[in-house]
Amino acid sequence: MPESAHEIHARAVDALRSPAVHEWGTWPFEGPVRPRALAAPGPEPQRDGEDGVDCSACAKPDSDYVWTDDRWRLMALEPTGLPLILILEPRAHHDGPADLPDDLAREQGIMLGRVERAVLSVGEIGRVHIGRWGEGAAHLHWWFIARPAGLPQLASSMAEIWDDVLPPTPHEVWRENVARVAEAMQRG
Ligand SMILES: [Zn+2]
Repeated sequence: MPESAHEIHARAVDALRSPAVHEWGTWPFEGPVRPRALAAPGPEPQRDGEDGVDCSACAKPDSDYVWTDDRWRLMALEPTGLPLILILEPRAHHDGPADLPDDLAREQGIMLGRVERAVLSVGEIGRVHIGRWGEGAAHLHWWFIARPAGLPQLASSMAEIWDDVLPPTPHEVWRENVARVAEAMQRG
């Protein structure tokens, strides 16, 4: 039997741990931390475009994307601390890998590699973190998070926090990064 939210909460609420984050090379902050109180279980939040209703991604025009084809669209987020963050979506509304038709699922595997290569083609990229959470929006979207080469302190799960700690990438640099991705995607 899997644990319910109430069972997890009851077991954990008074047993939260404080990991030694100050010893982690990638931890972005100084000073001690203590965990927040564990909130009581509640309903799952409403996501954008649940069941395809009023979906923001479905409604976006192709002009909002840096590259599109018949089945996929690739978008760049506005400049943040990391060099580049891109979002890959199937054109059709699907919630996640679990509900993709087989042909699209096969193509998804190819697309993940193709977008990673395009991000690496920007240059000065150490790693491309690829993730899918689906917590805020129901329309399947893959994150491509570019971690700069030569700054391993920004590695792994802390990269997204460093993204908010570092000042935003200058607009002209970001525009060039996006243009290189678009070029690489065109080349195929
Ligand atoms: Zn959608």
